Amino acid sequence: MRKLFDGRAGCPATARPGRPSLSARLLNPIGQQTAQSWLASAIAERRLGHALLLYGPAGVGRKTLARYAAAHLLCMQPTASGPCRGCRSCLAAADDSHPDLHILRTPPGKRGLGIDAIRGLIEELALPPRGVDGRGLGKVAIIETAGELGDEAANAFLKTLEEPPENTWLFLVAPRRSQVLPTVRSRCQPLRLSLLDPREIEAVLRAQGLHDDEARRLAEGCGGSLGLALDMHRTAGIAPLDPGLLLGAVPEPEALLRDLALRVQQLKRETDAPGGSHEWRRRLLRVYFAELLRLLRDAQALRCAAAVPPLSPGRARLAGRLARLASRPLENGAQAVEVAREGLARNLNIELVVSRLAAHLPRGGGR
Ligand SMILES: [Zn+2]
Repeated sequence: MRKLFDGRAGCPATARPGRPSLSARLLNPIGQQTAQSWLASAIAERRLGHALLLYGPAGVGRKTLARYAAAHLLCMQPTASGPCRGCRSCLAAADDSHPDLHILRTPPGKRGLGIDAIRGLIEELALPPRGVDGRGLGKVAIIETAGELGDEAANAFLKTLEEPPENTWLFLVAPRRSQVLPTVRSRCQPLRLSLLDPREIEAVLRAQGLHDDEARRLAEGCGGSLGLALDMHRTAGIAPLDPGLLLGAVPEPEALLRDLALRVQQLKRETDAPGGSHEWRRRLLRVYFAELLRLLRDAQALRCAAAVPPLSPGRARLAGRLARLASRPLENGAQAVEVAREGLARNLNIELVVSRLAAHLPRGGGR
């Protein structure tokens, strides 16, 4: 397989009876029952359209589900409900080493998917399927950053999208339908993925060995995105929003909000430090924005004496202090963070997103 873009490092495809291999476990979508069963029956009944647009927020399993469906289409012993997850084809699909599964995404540091990548894909799809044993069943391409297809690349791709070679399926993945160029999205069957249930996320985190309290805290704070919960866990040691630190530093709620604005700018400088990759900056900011939003929401809930999930002592004191502010600055703050998160998801310039947020975070304003 000519790699169009290097995916995850492959691990040896060895299946041991009794225990699912790592690869088999990778092909294990979480939640999304409606989309999953719709896909499974469309594939089993051979009525799946040849171009699908899987869209929904990041971290809810869009790419996992696309891989799962790809594995189902290429599986040597498919079941009615999905791929067998044990045959050589399934294991290769899970490892990104299947000769008939092509995965395309924007390379790190690049702003979009260029025409060369799309031309490479079109050439690949024109070749007959090879299969893991020389008997190919079909070909699948997953475009993980379909929202970042440039005009030129999209135009080059339209004919393939409309009339792909026989037994070829295309999965396009994007946060929102509107992010995909109209000429592209009008040629795809849309399939929307929703936010995950916090209980599903908590179960996954526990299965990964996290303590119950930590799993619950992350599941509640990640807004239905398993990807974000995992990011929050990975960056926990360097989380810039430390309630204890903030509490020690700022006595008054107005000053606290000013301090939050400063910290956003400071965070930007930290993430600009040499060695910090573009993707890492975005990941840190996503975590920070999610924490900030949760804090503002908690403060609003406390202010209205609404029930809030159990907070850690530091966070409770911080939210309690913010709750002394009027409702308007809290609401404006939360809205500004929402806009910033949206900007980040749309891959807007980080500097622009951060300076806009810093400018719009409320500066207090009395009760
Ligand atoms: Zn299989």
